Amino acid sequence: EVEVAIKVVVVGNGAVGKSSMIQRYCKGIFTRDYKKTIGVDFLERQIEVAGEDVRLMLWDTAGQEEFDAITKAYYRGAQACVLVFSTVDRESFESLELWKKKVEDEVGEIIMVIVQNKIDLIDDALVQTSEAEELAKKLRLRFYPASVKDNLNVEEVFRYLAGKYLER
Ligand code: GDP
Ligand code: MG
Repeated sequence: EVEVAIKVVVVGNGAVGKSSMIQRYCKGIFTRDYKKTIGVDFLERQIEVAGEDVRLMLWDTAGQEEFDAITKAYYRGAQACVLVFSTVDRESFESLELWKKKVEDEVGEIIMVIVQNKIDLIDDALVQTSEAEELAKKLRLRFYPASVKDNLNVEEVFRYLAGKYLER
């Protein structure tokens, strides 16, 4: 049996919840003061999609995003990408297109999805979901409002990417 393995890079400004998302999806936990580095390049999880076993390798950036210093090795061979911003961080939303370009400069056009994280903080929102939907439409990308904290839509994001990958 041939196993399908997908390298997924999770990008976006610092503190939007990327490490938390990876941790939540692969280990099933959420902590408020999650350490900056996880000490490994990626965490993985295996799921079944359309009768196929898919191994998702989720690459974390260990905080380098703040110094614009993510190495080429991080992007190399990526087949899918999660573009993450935070509901309560306007700048993280405005940086999304830059992140998309960065990824595409390294690996070309790959499967991407936009995630608006921290939707549980909607009462303090600095970005409206409608704006994000508009951007996603413009970029022709699937959009998910999510809360890693409340475990809302995290599974769905990665299931979508895996399904899309199998469709190729
Ligand atoms: P990263 O820099 O993008 O990897 O962000 P982290 O995963 O380190 O998360 C930054 C902070 O946001 C941490 O304190 C997390 O606990 C918190 N956080 C992550 N996801 C959520 C969420 O969905 N809701 C809320 N309220 N906080 C979150
Ligand atoms: Mg992190």
